[in-house]
Amino acid sequence: MTRWRYAAATDTGLVRGTNQDAIFVDSSLAIVADGMGGHAAGEVASAMTVDRVYEGFLEDQSIEGLHRAIEVANSDVLQEARDDPNHFGMGTTVMVVGLTRDSSGVTSPTMFHVGDSRLYQLRDGALRQLSEDHSVAEEWVRMGRLTPDEALTHPRRHQLTRGVGVEETIDIDVMSINAQPGDRLLLCSDGLSNELSADTIVELASPPVPLDDAVYQLVEAAKQSGGRDNISAILLELDEVDLAARPIKRTLGTTPPPVAVSSRPTSHRAIRRNRWLTWRLGVAAGATIFVVVAFFFILHWYAYSTFYLAPENGVIGVYQGQPSGVLWYKPELVASTNFSSHQLRPADEASLQDTISEPSLNAALSYASYLHAAWQASQSVAPTTTTTTTLVTTTTTKKG
Ligand code: MN
Repeated sequence: MTRWRYAAATDTGLVRGTNQDAIFVDSSLAIVADGMGGHAAGEVASAMTVDRVYEGFLEDQSIEGLHRAIEVANSDVLQEARDDPNHFGMGTTVMVVGLTRDSSGVTSPTMFHVGDSRLYQLRDGALRQLSEDHSVAEEWVRMGRLTPDEALTHPRRHQLTRGVGVEETIDIDVMSINAQPGDRLLLCSDGLSNELSADTIVELASPPVPLDDAVYQLVEAAKQSGGRDNISAILLELDEVDLAARPIKRTLGTTPPPVAVSSRPTSHRAIRRNRWLTWRLGVAAGATIFVVVAFFFILHWYAYSTFYLAPENGVIGVYQGQPSGVLWYKPELVASTNFSSHQLRPADEASLQDTISEPSLNAALSYASYLHAAWQASQSVAPTTTTTTTLVTTTTTKKG
């Protein structure tokens, strides 16, 4: 069982006339919605969204259930904005952390997020922002068009690229939170994150500061540094975490893929393992192919690296290859001379029967010529005029 304790606060701030933020928190669900729109429309959008998410989570605590609840909020806010001219153009952010339940009953904290409200994780005195802002400036930072510093002052830093109640379809960031007992999670609206530095948040919200004191101090600090917007903070502290809870990160479309429920706790690891396996298999296969190719290359080279003389149809033939062959590489007849294989000195004729190795075709031909000349000399007869070598390139089959 995953459990958290919680504290929350919301404040109008020092500049705005109304508080258009809406929040909700209990032992398994935390919601921050930062409404926008003229008159009271922002309040309507944020309150409606908190209501729909709460209702949806009561019915279905799965990831799909919560995802669907946000889709319902989206279509309801959009419908309300169309039906009531006073509410035209309203919308809201939504940051939800729910203890979602998988098919085996394991509960783990999952973030659902649209807009620029934020989720931070506090662990060991360090603050980590888990959510990405869906604002023009932050999207540009992720695309490399702006530096993070430029985004802080960019005129479009408050312009949202996604919101609840803006379009028919809603793109929701869904992330399973890798939580440990003792972790604190801070959900907040931009009225808090715009006013406070990471250092200040760490200082005010880290243990052992009690949760109630922490949220109060966060809101007060945001007011002291300007309080230009509505300020909301929900602080959760994980007391217990189900062992099976594992981090994943994905964005679900408007129709969440079924894989999200059934394989959620292990899917990320499985994918990583598969990639690792694929990579290893790829390397192993590559190495094996290399070794095999190299082996045959060397074998082929060895099989055909040498030449030898041997009798061939009554003349001296030149073969390429090892006289006894190498595996299936049989020697090939590459040239025939017109020197008789019998018109040789007896010792040479015996050598020829045993084959005479030479390093190259030319060397083999020269030696054949020498053997013939030596025989002629030994006959004490005038050399014949037919000492030129006739090459006959053959096409003897390789395979025996
Ligand atoms: Mn705001």
